[in-house]
Amino acid sequence: MCGIVGFTGKTKAAGFLLEGLERLEYRGYDSAGIAVLDGGKIQIEKTTERIKNLIDKTDNGEKINGTIGIGHTRWATHGAPSFANAHPHISADGRFAVVHNGIIENFVEIKQRLIAEYNVKFKSETDSEVIAHLIAAHMKNYSTLEDAVYAATLEMRGAYALVVVSSKDPNKIVAVRKDAPLIAGIGKGENFIASDIPAL
Ligand code: GLU
Repeated sequence: MCGIVGFTGKTKAAGFLLEGLERLEYRGYDSAGIAVLDGGKIQIEKTTERIKNLIDKTDNGEKINGTIGIGHTRWATHGAPSFANAHPHISADGRFAVVHNGIIENFVEIKQRLIAEYNVKFKSETDSEVIAHLIAAHMKNYSTLEDAVYAATLEMRGAYALVVVSSKDPNKIVAVRKDAPLIAGIGKGENFIASDIPAL
């Protein structure tokens, strides 16, 4: 189980996310990535190298606009360490981005259902990617991101922490944990989420 950070506020998110991920480097990881919401657009940057690579690519986050975002350091459990398997994972409609720590034990059956019912094309070998598509599927029946995420978690077995952003809901991040660590930092006009205290 590796690292998660999230930020929602009034200043650029990417810098905080990258610094938070660097502070979680001590846990080890095989790849990393961030997703930042800029208006109705989700911008994703990933690396199979060090966080420093993301910092250099984005000029310490300055090249990425947007005040809401999520970040992840991955320690692969399902699927090789690779660019495609690095988080964040995104739904087929491009609307939802997800970072996930832990394991979705029943991801194979969820994946088969999503393929059979919605013809979803998977882009990674991870258990985590099902979460993004599952939320997209549930969003058809619910009006809020929180409700769709909650409905998705009812189908998932395992220990996990996950954080979600939606391009249609550019003012919030939704976070869930079950038998895995995730902490929230409540600030003035800005809020934080992380899998471990050093990130905050
Ligand atoms: N099971 C997920 C994966 O292999 C998350 C691993 C983690 O906790 O970093 O992508």
